[in-house]
Order: sequence, then C-alpha cells, then structure tokens
Amino acid sequence: MILEDSLCGTLDARNADGRTALHEASALGEENIIFRLLEKGANINSKDSNGVTPLYTACSSNQPKACQFLIIKGADPTLRHPRTGWVPLHEAAMKGHAGCVKELIMNGAPCHPRSADNDTPLDLARRYEHQHVVMYLKTCKPKNPRLQGKPWFHGSMDRKKALESIQKHGAKDGQYLLRSSANKPDTMVLSMAANGTVFNFEINTKMESYYIDDGPYFDTLEQLIDHYCRYDDGLPTQLLFPIPPPPGRIDNGPPTREKPSPAPRPADLTSHKGSPVRRDSPEPPVSPLDREGSIPMSPPPELPTGRVPKTNTFSKLFSGIRASEKIKKKEMDRQRKELQKAIHEAPGGGSDEVQCIDASHIERGNEIGQGEFGSVLEGKLKEGNRWVKVALKTLHADHLQTGQKEFLREAKVMCGLDHPCIVKLMGVCLGPPMMLVQELVSLGAMLDFLQNDSITASDLKLWATQIASGMMYLEGKKFVHRDLAARNILLENKGQAKISDFGLSRATGANNDYYRSTTGGRWPVKWYAPESIYYGTFSHASDVWSFGVTLWEMNSRGSQPYGEKTGAEVIKQIENGHRLSRPEGCPQNVYHIMQKCWSYKPCNRPTFSQLNDMFRDDPEYGAFYHRGAHNPPSRR
Ligand code: ATP
Repeated sequence: MILEDSLCGTLDARNADGRTALHEASALGEENIIFRLLEKGANINSKDSNGVTPLYTACSSNQPKACQFLIIKGADPTLRHPRTGWVPLHEAAMKGHAGCVKELIMNGAPCHPRSADNDTPLDLARRYEHQHVVMYLKTCKPKNPRLQGKPWFHGSMDRKKALESIQKHGAKDGQYLLRSSANKPDTMVLSMAANGTVFNFEINTKMESYYIDDGPYFDTLEQLIDHYCRYDDGLPTQLLFPIPPPPGRIDNGPPTREKPSPAPRPADLTSHKGSPVRRDSPEPPVSPLDREGSIPMSPPPELPTGRVPKTNTFSKLFSGIRASEKIKKKEMDRQRKELQKAIHEAPGGGSDEVQCIDASHIERGNEIGQGEFGSVLEGKLKEGNRWVKVALKTLHADHLQTGQKEFLREAKVMCGLDHPCIVKLMGVCLGPPMMLVQELVSLGAMLDFLQNDSITASDLKLWATQIASGMMYLEGKKFVHRDLAARNILLENKGQAKISDFGLSRATGANNDYYRSTTGGRWPVKWYAPESIYYGTFSHASDVWSFGVTLWEMNSRGSQPYGEKTGAEVIKQIENGHRLSRPEGCPQNVYHIMQKCWSYKPCNRPTFSQLNDMFRDDPEYGAFYHRGAHNPPSRR
C-alpha cells in the first residue's frame, strides 16, 4: 500500500541508525517485503550508520532465505564492515549461522575472505566453537568458474609487453590478462585496464592459496580470476574482458596444483599477519606520482602504499598509459567547466568557487571511514612541490545517480567556510571516483574517543566551546548545519575539535533565519527540535537543540540518545515534557545547559554565542585553557 502511494517518500529513507526499510526487512527475513522494495528500486547495498548492508544484517539475524534472495538479486557479499573489515560471511560464521554461510557460498561469495585482522570465517567459526560451520568451511567448494579454461593466460610476459597488448585491444575498463613475470617465472601478475591506466597486481601465494594483497584466499587461479570477474572487491574495476594470447603463443596454462586440503590452514594463514608484502622487484611497481613520462626504465626508489577506493589495499600498482600533456590539460579544462556547471546547478546555497583538483595530484591511501555514498580514504594532495595529507570522501559508482547532487551541495557549502573549528574543504576531484578533498583531521571521529579513560570533563568542555565557536561562525555565514551530532565531530588532537559533515546543511533565506525543508529524506530525528520534526523548519535555534543532544552524547561517553526508543516514542516523550536524563558523572551545570538547549520554544534556547561564553567562563575550562593545552578559538 505505502509503496504504491505516490506520496511514498524515498525508498532509501533512513531511521536514526541510518537503517533503511530494506535493512529492517532483511533483519526480519521478510522476503515479500524485500522483493517489493527491490522491485521499486531500493538500494540493495545501502549502508547504515555502522557501515552495515542489508545482506550483512540478514546474516547477523540468521535469515538464510533473505540472505539467498538478496545475493541472487545482486547484493555484494564483498562489502566490508568499515571497522573490522568483516564481510557478511565473517558475521555468519562468528555467530554459527550455518544456513547463511551455505547460502553465501553457494551463491558466489568467496569461501576465505580476510578481515582487517587477517581472520577468515573459518578462523572465527573455530574461535567461537561452531563445529558444524567449521566442518562446512573446511570442505566447501566455491561456485564453478564461469569461464572455461584459461583464455586469459599469456605465459611469460614482461610489464611492457602486457601494457602494449592491453593498449592494442583498446585499454577498455575491465580488460585483463594474466601473465607470469618475465623475470620471476614463479610469480603471476594480473594486468588490467581501468580509468585510462594499466594496473599490475602481483598474485601472492601462501600455503597453497592464491591471493591479491588483503583479498580472499583462493585454491586456484581460475577461482581467483572468477571472483574478480564477479566483484571488483578492491580492484579498480571488475574484470570484464579477458584478452586472449596471440594464436600459438601459449599452449599450456599457468601451473595448477593439486592440493591435499582445499581450505587454507588458519594457523599458517594468520602467520602472514604483519608480514611485509612481497615485491616484484625485477618489475618494480610505479606510483601514480611517477607516472609522468612513459614506461619506467629503472625502478623507482620506494613504493608509496596506494589504495583503491574500497577496502582492500592493493599496494603494488601500476604502469601507466599516459595521455599526453596537451590532452591532459584539455581534459582538465573540460572537467573544470563540468564541475563549475554542476556546482552552479546544485541547490541549497553556498559558493560556486569550488576548486577543481586534478586526479593526478591525488594519491589515495587507506580507508579511514565510511560515508553515506562511499568510503573516506586517507590520501595525499600535491600542493606545489610538496604533498600534504588529506581526507578523500569518495562517491562510489553505486551512488552516482542518487549521491552526486548531495555531494556537490556539500562541497558548495563547505568551500565558503574557513574556521579552525570547521573541517576545511580543499576542493573537488571529478575522479572517477568523484572525491571531496578535505583537510585530514588526524584522530578522526570524536565518538570513537569518548570511552577512553584519559578523556576528562575539561576535555569535553573544551570541545563543547569549540563546537559552539564553529557553530557561531556558521550562523554568521547564514547556514544551518542540520546534522550536528557527536558522530560528526572530528578530533585533530586532544585540544582541537572540528565540525564536519555538511551534507544536510542549507543556507537560510536572505530575510529570515530559518530554512524550510520540503523533502523528508534521512533525518536524524533524535537530534531534531520539535519544530523541525513537525514543520520542517531549521534555524540556528534548532541547531542549538542538536548541540544539546551532542553535549549529552559527549557526557554519556557516546551512548545512544534515548536508547532503543523509536523516533515516534521520542517525539511523544518530548511532547510530554520529558527530556534526556543527566548522564552519570555529568556536572550539574553542564546538564543545566543541555536542558536550556531543549526548551520547547526556540526563542527560549541560548544562542551559540551564549553557549560559547558559558563554557569559556566555566572555571574548569579556564584552568585547562591556562595550562596552554590548546589554542582556543577566538570570540567573535
Ligand atoms: P554520514 O552521513 O553517515 O555521517 P557521511 O557521508 O557524511 O556519512 P562523514 O561522516 O563525513 O561521511 O565521514 C565518515 C567518516 O569518515 C567519519 O566518521 C570519520 O571517521 C571519517 N572522516 C570524514 N572526514 C574526515 C576528515 N576530514 N578527516 C578524518 N576523518 C574523516
């Protein structure tokens, strides 16, 4: 009924935990609802605020049928949990959900993916003593490869020849071949084209398994190739078009091994943890930074660890197909124009002066977070002759349609902001993938630090002052943030907090101090003032309400506001005059400030300027400040 209604909101609307209807239906195993939602176009791989997909949720809740259905319909079983690096199979194996384990493997998920700690699902099943899952994972066979034989194997070939062969075939995204290194015949190398570049990935072997960097272990090369034909899983793109060897060039394939046991032995595999990645020294990988000029003739000194925009670290890249400088410049001009046009057209107010950054001036590194539309990576930006560390918020190809407008809207707001308590935007790179290039706030999300015993009440007061200071500045720029929450505060160091995530921010009207939203979308209701929930009005006063909830989160050391209560229950509680209670250990005067922020009438709430003063005038804050632990933001 709801789905048929023309007034039905967006299918991927999120609740306070960032979960969509598809997450909820998957957790409950409601196949009919899953079917309906997918039929209407719900995003099958959307991630909740913990970075968890519906497939992961189904595995976690022991819903094998939902699991089967989702994976058949295209759910990606290689998407990792941002913190642990687990894929759905890890979760199912750890919980002993044998039905889900079977469905995943029977439908194409790799049997031995690895977590951030190098654990396979078999390791987890052993550790948590799920014998039936252990038995299954020890003997299971992955799906049969779809390509017969090895039409992609070229025998011995050096990097230069591989590059020429791929170029000769057009260097289309996803073209690939497998070769044995000309200088080290025992070493296999996958050469592939993506984004106008040819990448070379060495295939590692360990205890009779094949793998690329931190990707899954495979028993055979055919299985490895087949896996990356199904999922990009950290490669720059999926393998799509095998390049066959010239006729008569190769008559026998790569070495195949008969293995005594199909599964890798965990004890041996874990010993890999922390071991240095083997380098293919006779054919040294070349950093994108060294791609100026043609094929390198001599080894570059050292390889910077590059990461492609997902979760795997493929650190041994690249030889380049390089467009000439002229073509490159023309392309850059075209991109600049395209960006300016898109920025100009993006709604929501802000500046049109967004800096367009050339992709060759960016080096991508490790993943440091998961955003709504893709991962956030650590990276480097070339500024003149030096490289500075940056954060790269990427727009994943899956979200190109839905996310681009919001992405550019965020850029438009951020590029006009310059304040020590607000994350700075350096520019936008059109990629692919499109990226917001921001200053790297070294410690990352404040939420991750709140439980740390070394954090004192004075630290919290300092951060509160800084957040109020940043919000005062934003108010002066006539923007409402609309998503102020502990999850969106980053820490540069213990003495400097910064406000981030301007995805929901909007300019207030020229003659009024509020913004009226006409669309629903993903609203963090537990942080919202009553007038925002009822009438869609957002003002500096409604941001102050959210500031109060943020203060509560900080003082409760990262607890979830209102616990498990639903949005509707929270609204009822507020209407009845109840508010969040004082967190244990929270000073009475700080709780009093929170209560003022939650005054029902917006005009009774303090302003950010007053809030900034309230914390600065606190004797404890003063003591901290005078110890010289930080540079406090200046008063307006
Ligand atoms: P959501 O809407 O779910 O909050 P988002 O798309 O707005 O996600 P962010 O919240 O901006 O994404 O970023 C996700 C995570 O990436 C952050 O929690 C943080 O850990 C990390 N991150 C983002 N920007 C930076 C930065 N400039 N410096 C360091 N870490 C960052």
